[in-house]
Parts: sequence; structure tokens; C-alpha cells
Amino acid sequence: MTRDEIRELAAFQADEKKGAYALSFYFQPDPPQDRSHRHEAILAKEVVKQALKEAEGKGKNGWLHADLDRVLEVATRLRGHARGHAVFACSAHNLWKEFDLPPRLGTTRIYLQPRLQLKPLAVLLGAQPDLCVAMVDRQRARFFDLRLDDLRERDAIVHMLSRNAANYGYNGYEAGHAERRVAEEALHHFKAVSERLRTDLEKGLWQRLIVGCQDSNWREFESHLHPYVKQRLIGRFSADVASVGDEEIRNHADAMLKKWIEERGRTKAEEAIDFAKANGRGVTGLRRVLRALETGEVQTLFLTENYSAHAVECTHCGHLDAHMVPSCGACGSSTRELSDVCDAVIPIAIRRDIELFYLKEHSELDRAGNIAALLRFRADQNRTGQTAAAS
Ligand SMILES: [Zn+2]
Repeated sequence: MTRDEIRELAAFQADEKKGAYALSFYFQPDPPQDRSHRHEAILAKEVVKQALKEAEGKGKNGWLHADLDRVLEVATRLRGHARGHAVFACSAHNLWKEFDLPPRLGTTRIYLQPRLQLKPLAVLLGAQPDLCVAMVDRQRARFFDLRLDDLRERDAIVHMLSRNAANYGYNGYEAGHAERRVAEEALHHFKAVSERLRTDLEKGLWQRLIVGCQDSNWREFESHLHPYVKQRLIGRFSADVASVGDEEIRNHADAMLKKWIEERGRTKAEEAIDFAKANGRGVTGLRRVLRALETGEVQTLFLTENYSAHAVECTHCGHLDAHMVPSCGACGSSTRELSDVCDAVIPIAIRRDIELFYLKEHSELDRAGNIAALLRFRADQNRTGQTAAAS
């Protein structure tokens, strides 16, 4: 799943006047230890059947039925599936997209709305960096790109070591010499791998790094990492480069990334709230966050996990208002009520590449109105503070 594909989904809007609905289906698999029970596939079918039943009430909507039937087929196929899965559909507008996702989608659910429901996706990818996983030992390095659930091997470096020192027989001098040579070859290899990581980072091939490397090699390899690269390092796990499988890499990387995103979200949210108190590059509360979104100031958005709020949206210019006013404050056209303002805010964040964090149990954010933003700049102040924009 690429950023462009996600942006396309965020821009989608079904034509309600034609009776079209945007269908979003999320499949959350059972944890591995429960997978034999096949509980999740049965549940998925139930969820779709329930939606079909409810669609009966929605009158003569043939499109919706066709989409739901097709989703039912997908749900049946997902029996025993280990990955999460999402379907976005609207046959009235010829839309059908399916994606495998990390198994962290919360629950299996179906949504029928004018816009696609992207919250489970935003929770996953809102703050997801372009990740490189480098698998390194003394003679090999394999470079993987992880984009959401999509793991691809991009490149590899191999410097096969000379024959093992032990094979050189009983001559102490020769054996010692060979050992030194092998150590030197490994050193050159580590330096070459570090250099590759640095140049790839400079080319923008990745933003954050996770290294898979055995404990015995890590200290030496780490000492050769360029300081810029080290700053981007999320963590390291232990694995055998020659035998490691995609699933193992994905599981390690996914767990480390999740923890890193949570910690980063907490720290940055505190920063935003402190800035807001000091009248600097931060705002809190729905009203101020909506205004900052419209002026293009928002760099990072923070929401508590279950945040939801009523608001109105202008039917003409899209202006969002936290007050339930009948006409738009910007252009005077009529507004419509949104039962959850997030349905409008999340697509905006995705389209504009705004980093999005959902936070669990964050008392400062709770007190600040459950929504906050870190700003690139403040439109109402002079520009001196701008250069301090957080990375
Ligand atoms: Zn308007």
C-alpha cells in the first residue's frame, strides 16, 4: 500500500444523491494461539451478513448489495488468514481496493458512509516512517523496505570471508595470520554496509532503521555506524541473516515500530501541549485545531484513542466548525452535521501528509480536550519561531 493509494482513498466521496455508499471493511485476525478456532472468519461472515440485512432498509440500492456480496466472498476466503485485511469499495464509482495489513486493526467491522472509514488505517499508518530493516552478519547484509505490511528486499551486499582460520592446519603463525585476515575482512564489510546505509538515507530511500544482527557482531558493527544513521536507529533484534524468513523480520520490526511510535507520540503530544500553554507552536481543543488545519499550520495531530465529536461541515467549501451553526462562517452556504468530526479530519491529515498519533491513556491530552496539534508555524505570529520546527 503506497502513500498515493492512501491519499486516493482519503479523497474519495460517494455521491449520496445517487444513493451511493462507500464501503469500508476491516478484518482483524485472531491472535496466533487462537487461530485454529477459526473464530475470526466466522465473525467476519457474520459482520457482513448483518450489514446485508441492514442494507435491506436502505431501499433500492443494488450497488450496495453487489459490494456486500463481494465482501462476503472475501470474508469467506480469509479463513485462517494471519494478516489483517481491508476492503474499500463503491461499485457506483467503480472502486474496489483490497490490502493486506498488519494484524492491528482493532476489530472486524464494516462501515457504510459517504466517505471511506480510514480511522483503523490512520491508527496504523499515521505516524509510520519509511522503514529500512538491515539484516547484517560478518559477511552479508540484506536491506529490506517495510511499508505498512509490505516487506521487500531492496538490495544485498556479500563479502564472503576467506577460509576459516581453523582450516589452516597446525601452524600457529599461519592460523593467527588467517584469523587476523578474516577479522580485517569483516571490518571492511561492516564499514561498507555502514556506508551504504548512509548513502541510502541521503538518497531518501528510508527514514528510520531497524537492524537484525546477532549479539556477537552487534557491538562491532554499531561502532561503524555513521552518527546520522545512528540517530535514525529505532532498535535492533537478534536473528540469523542466512536463515531468517520474511515473517520473522516483519514480526520483530512491527513490534519495535509499534513501541517506538507510542513513545514518540507521547513525547510529541506533551511538547504540543506545552507549546500551546506558552502560546507557541502548539494548539489544543477542537476549535483551535480545526482553525490551524484550515490555515495549513498543522504538522502533527494528536487524538486520544476513542476521540469523537460532533461538528458541522460546509456543503459548499468544506469549512469545518465545532459550533453547530446552520450556515458556513466562511462562505454562508448551508452546513451538514457530522456525527464524528474525525471522519472529515482524518482524510485531511492523510491528504496533506500530516503525522497522526492516536494515544492511549494520556492524561495531559485528556485534560487538553482530547485533541491537539503541533504546528509548523503560527500564522498569527511573526516568523522567528519557524526554524525551530520539530523533526
Ligand atoms: Zn463554506
